[in-house]
Amino acid sequence: MKILVTGGAGFIGSHLCKRLLKDDHEVLCVDNLFTGNKNNILELTENKKFEFLRHDITFPLYVEVDQIYNLACPASPIHYQFDPVQTTKTSVHGAINMLGLAKRTRARILQASTSEVYGDPEVHPQPENYWGRVNPIGIRSCYDEGKRCAETLFFDYHRQHKLDIKVIRIFNTYGPNMHPNDGRVVSNFIMQALHNKNITIYGDGSQTRSFQYVDDLICGMLAMMKSSKRFVGPVNLGNPVEFTIKELAEKVLEMIPESKSKIIFKKLPQDDPRKRKPDISLAKKELNWEPKIKLEEGLIKTIEYFRNLNK
Ligand code: NAD
Ligand code: UDP
Repeated sequence: MKILVTGGAGFIGSHLCKRLLKDDHEVLCVDNLFTGNKNNILELTENKKFEFLRHDITFPLYVEVDQIYNLACPASPIHYQFDPVQTTKTSVHGAINMLGLAKRTRARILQASTSEVYGDPEVHPQPENYWGRVNPIGIRSCYDEGKRCAETLFFDYHRQHKLDIKVIRIFNTYGPNMHPNDGRVVSNFIMQALHNKNITIYGDGSQTRSFQYVDDLICGMLAMMKSSKRFVGPVNLGNPVEFTIKELAEKVLEMIPESKSKIIFKKLPQDDPRKRKPDISLAKKELNWEPKIKLEEGLIKTIEYFRNLNK
């Protein structure tokens, strides 16, 4: 198949492109390189079935494809808050453009949505039928509401134009190819520990997240793309093992024993969700999927990646 991956030079997109090539598909990677990096896809460019196109998905795209994975969107708070209007445009205009492309080509299209659609949740863990608690006017809203609107567009194209859609809600994911300075907690703590800088916990570190290693996510994405036309989602893809941010900081320090870093506490950013953990019963039932990689195992590979970046 000829498969389009938007955001293909980013962290998750680069792993997805690699896996699709391994499965012998033709891959068209579209990215404007805002947070993505050509180094993430350097090894793929030798493959004749891989093509890279520098393009911003807020503008229309005319290509012929059989499947679309729509991942283009900055995902870390510092990057999506850098140009919030562009973030909303990428989610909303980008979705309209990619859905238009899917409508013309009749391609199956998968949207990379997010656990952020649940906002700062009152329901724990979060099942897909929870509508969420999102601040519509805060500093995270460009991302959260943009992604929520993209979900709306996907379901309206499905109902109105009978489009073959798939919507996944990705929970905090980490692994090699993450941007070293993107401000997300796993990359921040590892980079700080490797450089003997203070480990910056925002708030008192009692807020929780559930961390999924990228390989588990890719398996879930492929399973969703392959699933029966009847099952459109949204479906949560995440690791249900929950940690406090303080526990994560301690684990990273334990795994980089030579580090001289000390933990310090900084102000908690506005609207930072207190807790987050996916209910993955739907993914288990419909996709026969659940994550297999434990935090420690995933951290070993991620730490090794960041160590090599420094060389
Ligand atoms: P990333 O920032 O590494 O990748 C996003 C990619 O999209 C980058 O390569 C960037 O250059 C590209 N991009 C941004 N705006 C674009 C535009 N207008 N046109 C074309 N390309 C554009 O982030 P990631 O972690 O790989 O996230 C990929 C997707 O998964 C995003 O849609 C994100 O919202 C979603 N997601 C990620 C996580 C996570 O924990 N990593 C969690 C939930 C959802
Ligand atoms: N966080 C932190 N120190 C950092 C970076 C993040 O304590 O250096 C916290 C952040 O406030 C949040 C959690 O870690 O509570 C996860 O943050 P991240 O930006 O990785 O993801 P998100 O908030 O989008 O889940």
